[in-house]
Amino acid sequence: MNISIIGSGYVGLVSGACFAELGNQVICADHDTKKISGLKQGIVPIYEPGLQELIVNNFKNKRLKFTSSIREAVGASEVIFIAVGTPALENGEADLTGIENVARGIAQNMDGYRLIVEKSTVPVETCAWVKKTISTYVKKGHKFDVVSNPEFLREGSAINDFTHPDRIVLGVETAKAKQIMTSLYQPLNAPILVTNIKSAELIKHASNAFLATKISFINAIARICDKVGADVKEVAVGMGLDNRIGRYFLHAGIGYGGSCFPKDLEAFINLAKKSGYDFEILKAVRNTNQEQKGFVLQKIKDALWIIRDKTIAVLGLAFKPNTDDLRNSPSINLINALIQEGAKIKVYDPQAMEKAAKILKNVAFCKDAYQAAEGADCLIIATEWNEFKELDFIKLKKKLKRALIIDGRNIYDPKLLKGMGFTYIGVGRGNG
Ligand code: NAD
Repeated sequence: MNISIIGSGYVGLVSGACFAELGNQVICADHDTKKISGLKQGIVPIYEPGLQELIVNNFKNKRLKFTSSIREAVGASEVIFIAVGTPALENGEADLTGIENVARGIAQNMDGYRLIVEKSTVPVETCAWVKKTISTYVKKGHKFDVVSNPEFLREGSAINDFTHPDRIVLGVETAKAKQIMTSLYQPLNAPILVTNIKSAELIKHASNAFLATKISFINAIARICDKVGADVKEVAVGMGLDNRIGRYFLHAGIGYGGSCFPKDLEAFINLAKKSGYDFEILKAVRNTNQEQKGFVLQKIKDALWIIRDKTIAVLGLAFKPNTDDLRNSPSINLINALIQEGAKIKVYDPQAMEKAAKILKNVAFCKDAYQAAEGADCLIIATEWNEFKELDFIKLKKKLKRALIIDGRNIYDPKLLKGMGFTYIGVGRGNG
């Protein structure tokens, strides 16, 4: 099929490259001309495992093109995905300006039937607005359908998530739209759930809200574990073995972040309020997450007493491993809070240093974990990259001024580290 994806970010590029790999002719479009000219030269603006190769191969094989012209994208494709950002406004609502702009741009450039697929995460009713917008601006009464096809990929494992999804959700209104979309996704051989458009839109918000709830729930359990001397990792395993609960998203830590959960939760709370429902559970989830960040900061203060002039090594900047995405990263929040308290910060992240250099000032960027640890009063694990799981602790201990590890992601075995002479403080590992 001839496909266009408008919005070439994490979702747009991964979807575009994967659809091209499946044999479709794909155009990835973006209004960021610098990004597009970079992509044409093989410069992929984000770190996502496997993406660079996938993009370069499909570009070479002429299945994947890039453009900053919405006219070119709409002119060449029957199926047009919208994958632009939907950031939070100050009041927490989703900013749908990008969606509206793209819908208008599509309408003005249509020269025949088009299937417009809304992939960005949006509140219920957005597809209805996209439909109204296109009807308003379309010329000569060209026909079109609108589909809601929310995306569930996770940064860090995006290609595998896209090609092996647990489910594909299609909110459709017509048989034609259903037929085109199911045949587009058929090669993935994944379960396809066809619903009405509003249900599809709601499935995405409800899913993200539920996952955030699981994280806040286990973080709350971690607080109790610290008080009573239990280990949250053991508790989580015991809970997760129950199939009704499941083991995923039960990792206590320094709170969730990223470009999705915080904004999607806010948008969902707002949507619920507008519809007349006060979503108290989600407000508690948000508050617990906020508190969790303060809780970890307090652990650091409890261990160091005075933060001012202490040298603190922070391992991990990205909001999760295997990405360079810093949006709403708990690590960045923590670093800023420590800087405010007067700490000297040394950092290392395997992929996110370049992006971090643009937003973090007065921080020493180090070439590896050991350089970060050199002369530090404490070492904090802020992102659970695999390479931090296998550090040489003897070498690390020699580098540190004080053998103190605050494991914000619970990646270490407390007994092992204590046995090696470290003071180990995790989250909910029963150590206050
Ligand atoms: P992103 O910020 O990485 O990319 C969005 C892209 O859209 C940017 O390149 C931007 O320049 C472009 N853009 C914005 N307005 C445009 C316009 N009017 N015309 C053309 N291009 C425009 O965002 P993302 O992380 O890819 O997320 C996109 C959407 O998908 C969001 O709604 C997000 O919530 C949702 N989503 C994200 C993820 C994820 O893990 N990142 C997962 C599932 C769903």
